[in-house]
Amino acid sequence: MLSWSPVSAQIVAPSRSRKTSKLVILGASGSIGTSTLDILSRSPGEIELVAVSVHSSLPRLAEILTCFPSIKFAAITGTQPPESLTEFSKKFAGVKFFWGVHAAAELLNAARSEKADTVISAVVGAAGIAPTLRAIELGYKIALANKETMVTAGPVIERALASSKDASIVPVDSEHNALFQLLLGLDAPHLKLAILTASGGPFLNRTPAELKQVRRQDVLNHPTWSMGPKITVDSAGLINKGLEIIEAMHLFAIPLNRLDVLIHPVSHVHALVETADGFRFMANRPSMLFPIAHALYFPQSPPVYPDVVTRPEAWPALEFRKVDPVQFPGFALCMEAARNGGTAPAIFNAANEIAAGLFLDGLIQFTDIPVLLEMVLSASKIEQGSELGLYLEADARARESAYAQSKRLTKVEEVV
Ligand code: NDP
Ligand code: MG
Repeated sequence: MLSWSPVSAQIVAPSRSRKTSKLVILGASGSIGTSTLDILSRSPGEIELVAVSVHSSLPRLAEILTCFPSIKFAAITGTQPPESLTEFSKKFAGVKFFWGVHAAAELLNAARSEKADTVISAVVGAAGIAPTLRAIELGYKIALANKETMVTAGPVIERALASSKDASIVPVDSEHNALFQLLLGLDAPHLKLAILTASGGPFLNRTPAELKQVRRQDVLNHPTWSMGPKITVDSAGLINKGLEIIEAMHLFAIPLNRLDVLIHPVSHVHALVETADGFRFMANRPSMLFPIAHALYFPQSPPVYPDVVTRPEAWPALEFRKVDPVQFPGFALCMEAARNGGTAPAIFNAANEIAAGLFLDGLIQFTDIPVLLEMVLSASKIEQGSELGLYLEADARARESAYAQSKRLTKVEEVV
C-alpha cells in the first residue's frame, strides 16, 4: 500500500505485468487527442481504441476512423445538420454513431458494455464536466487532461470519486502527472510544498505597454509547448497556471498554502516537491507523450520513447524564478479565486473561456482578458456548497456576464 492518498486518485501500486486495456478518447481531434493516437500507433496491440468523440471536426474524425478500424463507437457532440451526419455515418458501416447533447454519455455507456475500461478526457472547457461524471458513474479509469472540469466542479468530482468503487483519475496535465509520480510513496505530512512550473509563455520578458500591441499569432507562438488554441492563450497570460493550481488542490487534496508556482522557461522540470531533506523533481523534455502514456498505462509502466528522450547532459540550463503577479494580472485574479473558493473558480473559468474565445475571434485585445475577468468577478456573488447545480448555474451566469461586459471594452481595430 502507498502512504499518500490523494482524494481523487485511488492509487494502487504499479504492476509489471502487461494487460491490454480498451480505450475511449473524448476530444480525439484535438492536440491531446492526436498525441494519444500517436501513443497507440507506437505500440500496436497494447491498447485497443474502441470509441472516440469529436465536437465538429468531421474530416478529422473520418481520418481517425480510417486509421483505427478497431473503433466501434463514435460521438459528434456539436450541432451539425442531420443530413450531413447521416451521409457521414454511411461511409463507416461498422461504426455506431451518437450525436446530440447526450452523445458523449451514450458513447461511454456503449463502450463500457464492450468492456472499455479507460477514458482519456481531452475535450476543452467545462463541457467536460458531464462526461467526466458519467465516466465516474460507470467505473472507468479516467486519464484527465480537461482541467476546466476540476476547476469548475472540483468538489462535485471529488465526491463522485469518493462514492465510486471502481473509478479513478490519473492526471495527464504534465505538471500534475509529474506531481502524481512524485507523491507516490510520500507520507502526506512530510510534504512541505508542491511546486508547479510555468514556462512563462511568449511574453515573459515584455513590459505591460508592449503587451498592448501583441497579435493573435504572437500569443499562439508558445516557446516550449505545442497545444490547442485555448490553452495556448491561457498559457501566454499565466492563467493556465492559476487554473492548474486549482486543479492540483482538487486532484491531490493539497491546500493552497502548500502549493506554489515557479517560472522555469525551458519546461524540462514539470513539478517539484519539497520535503525536510530537500527537493525532488520530475524532468523530461517538454512532450505530452510522457504524461499521456504514463496515465494511460498506469498502474503498468509506460513504453519507452528513445526518440523523444534527451539525456540530462543535453538539457538547457535549468533556471527558476518567482512569478510577478503585476506582470501577470490574470494569474493573480485566478489565485484570488482559488483563495475565495466556493463558486469563485467556476466563475473565473467560465469568464476566461469566454474571454479567450473573444480574443481568438479577434474581438478583444490580449490585455483585455484580465480586465474582463476582473469585471465579471467583481459583479458576481460567490456561493459555497457542493451541489453540481450551484457550479453549473455560476458557470452559466458568468458566461452571460462576460458577454455583456465585453461590450464595454474598446473594439479591436488592427490588433489581430
Ligand atoms: P484542442 O482545442 O486541441 O482540442 C479540443 C478537443 O475538444 C477537440 O477534439 C474538440 O473537437 C473538442 N471540443 C471542443 N469543444 C467541445 C465541446 N464544447 N464539447 C465537447 N468537445 C469539444 O485542445 P487541447 O487538446 O489542447 O486541450 C484539451 C484539454 O486538455 C484542455 O482542457 C487543456 O487545458 C488540457 N491540456 C492540454 C494540453 C496540451 O498539450 N494540449 C496540456 C495539458 C492539459 P473539435 O476538433 O471537433 O472541435
Ligand atoms: Mg500543464
